[in-house]
Amino acid sequence: MQLLASPESTLSMLDASLPNAQTRVQARIMPSELRPPKENLHVRIQNIPIIEGEYLLKRIPSADHLHRLLAVTGTVTRTNQARLIERRRLFRCQKCFKTVTAFPDDRQFGSISKPLYCPHLVDDIPCPSNRFEAVMDEANNCQDDYQEIRLQEDTSQLDIGAVPRSIAVILKHDLVDKCQPGDSVMVMYETSVFYS
Ligand SMILES: [Zn+2]
Repeated sequence: MQLLASPESTLSMLDASLPNAQTRVQARIMPSELRPPKENLHVRIQNIPIIEGEYLLKRIPSADHLHRLLAVTGTVTRTNQARLIERRRLFRCQKCFKTVTAFPDDRQFGSISKPLYCPHLVDDIPCPSNRFEAVMDEANNCQDDYQEIRLQEDTSQLDIGAVPRSIAVILKHDLVDKCQPGDSVMVMYETSVFYS
């Protein structure tokens, strides 16, 4: 139930546990060849029992379902070109000169914004700066695959005369380039508000 109610935080927590899981598996099966865990791995959940009306919906949902894990079947009507986005970007505070790491925002189609505030302390009080400059970070210059597609409701599931809705879906990592326009798919996703 935690996965259904808080999918982003639950999946992030599971992703964060993967390096430790890799190390433990390696130690068990190849103790003499321990290597650093791979970084860009992601948990994929399969075989969640289908609960129609609970998270498998006939129609693309409204704002009432924001930030929940949902599944909907439909037809892919458009696939944008896959592209690479930065995994993270370093910014330097222009007051305390410490660095802050910022991450891509799916609600802004993978762009990375400057931090809104500085999280560091100066003389034991929060740094009041909101001025940052991006800095080169050669050590963490990683990129991720990213793609936007458009999904339209399955018209065979709709009442006669109903106009099918469609939504933008963001695919990342290993899910990029896995479908084409015309494909019938079931998408499990977390709803979010987009700013364009
Ligand atoms: Zn600062």
